[in-house]
Order: sequence, then structure tokens, then C-alpha cells
Amino acid sequence: MNIRRLNSPNHNVGRGGRIPDMDVLHTTGNTTQSAINTVNNRANSVSYAFIIAGASFEGRGGVPAYEDGDIFQMVDIENTAWHAGISAAVRNDARFRSNAHPTVQSRSHNPNQYTIGIGFGDMNLNGWRLTERQIASYIWLANHLRAERQRIYGFTMPFDRDHIIGHNQVNPVNRPNCPGNIQWGIIMDGLANAQSVSPGTLATPPAVATAPSSVTVRSGDTLGRIAQQHGTTVAELARINNIPNPNLIRAGQVIQLPSVPTPPPSPPSVPEQTEEEVTVDNAISAGIITDRAHWLGVLTGNIAPVPRNIMRVMNNALAAIDNVAAR
Ligand SMILES: [Zn+2]
Repeated sequence: MNIRRLNSPNHNVGRGGRIPDMDVLHTTGNTTQSAINTVNNRANSVSYAFIIAGASFEGRGGVPAYEDGDIFQMVDIENTAWHAGISAAVRNDARFRSNAHPTVQSRSHNPNQYTIGIGFGDMNLNGWRLTERQIASYIWLANHLRAERQRIYGFTMPFDRDHIIGHNQVNPVNRPNCPGNIQWGIIMDGLANAQSVSPGTLATPPAVATAPSSVTVRSGDTLGRIAQQHGTTVAELARINNIPNPNLIRAGQVIQLPSVPTPPPSPPSVPEQTEEEVTVDNAISAGIITDRAHWLGVLTGNIAPVPRNIMRVMNNALAAIDNVAAR
């Protein structure tokens, strides 16, 4: 389970008899830290059931440390979070009638009762886009929520844009810019793939065929945390990296990891990669990995013919999600 639990006082018990048959995606509009503070504060009367972080934070002021892609749950699935309520004035607005999702228009009851709200944090730090870890975490979470919906309600939620919608499709009057310019195509392709790959085991995260052989220390990391994330010990990491003082590591330092499952052989069509370090964000903005086949290749482990350095970054990111799951 890779969900970290916090509890928001801002919810109603139960769902008024409704089944949560839709996800509503949001940008929290600020850092994950700020979103957690907001949702934890009773005076704000708002909450998301889940928040997915898009940056690292060392922890302060009652907000725990988190990393890009970490998932927090604030409200039980069986209860009603306060993320997408709409007033009569909104319902009567011409923009609601022309732009709200037809299902929302057709239902007279409170959308909070039939939706699960998921807020993406730190989008303000990431050009108002999702990080690759946030996308991978949402794909994992959507599968988890599908399994939970099956378990609790006997309902199998299709992964389509009639069931996974943006806040702007609930409230186009007051929230026309939420969730912003998120990568819907990549999300939906990833979900479609997860659906077809493992129809009987939908709680299982997308398969990750490779694991990183090394990690680069980020600000706030400790050797203990890295060891925990990769299923090893501080002593083992110190030994294979010749680290004399395990309490002293620096950002940017590359830590070799103990041997891990062997990655699949690269297909012969993989071109020679350059030495240039390519981040996934750069790759996304360059349009390199927005292609469906590439994304599906990542998720299935059938490595698509993209430069290997990009694949390595992607697989590291996805493997990191699985490592979070071990917590
Ligand atoms: Zn929103």
C-alpha cells in the first residue's frame, strides 16, 4: 500500500446513499504542503479525499516529509469529501448547462456524494503540469480505487473520460481552470493499458519490468530513507558505495544500489543514446514521450523504441512509485 494516511475533519459521514462512480481531478493550486494544511484546517471547510505530491518536502509545521509522487489520503472512500460542491446559482448558469459533464447535469444531488476528489499538489512548481511520478501514482491510485469500489460497492468503474473528469467539468462557472493543463492523453492511455494488462488483478500497479541500479541523492534524502525505499540497509549501501560516514551524503551524489532483478534485454531497435541527461519533464515538453506507444511500452515493460536514457528515467520514476508502495 503506498497511501499515506492523514485525516481531514472536513467531510460528511457516508455518501447519502450514493456510489462514488466518478473521479474528479484537481490542481490544489499550490504546494502539497499548503494543500495539506488547508485540508487539515476545519475553518476552511474543504477537502480532497487524496492529494498526490509533485515535489519533495522535508517536513515542517505538522506536515510530514514527502516526495514527488507520494499519495496522501485525507478522507475515507465511504465518506463525502468537500471538493466539488455546486450551488443552485451554478446549476442555473448558462456555462454549467453548456460545459458541465452530462452526468453531472443529469444528477440533482451533490457531486461530492458520487465522486472521489483527487488533488495534485505542486503543479505551480511544475509549469502547471503533472510530473511523471504524479501520473504514475494516479494510474496506480485509480486501479486501487477501482478495486476498492468493487470491494465496497460491487461497482466496476470504467476508465474513461465519462468517469474520470476535471473539476472544470463539475463547476465550469467558478473553477474553469481546474485541474489545468494536465496530461489527459498520457493518463488515459496508461489506464487503458493497465486495464487490458491485468483485468483480474486491477489492484496491482502497472508492471515495472526494471529497477534502478543507482539513485541520485536529492535534497532532504538520507541514506536510511534510500535504503528503506530500495529494500536494503544503511550498512549495505555504505559498504558498496565506500561511504565512510552514513550520516554524510550530499545532493547530487550517486548511490549504487544492491543488485536487483535483471532488466529485460533492450530491443535491437533502440538507438544509441547520447550522454546528455534527459529528464522526463523535458521529454514530455519536447513531445518525446507523449506518444501512446511509448507510454504503453513503459507501462508494460515492452520498451518502446525511444532513447534508452529517457526509458531509464521513466523506469526509475515508476520503480520509485513501487518502492513507495513498500512503506
Ligand atoms: Zn478543483
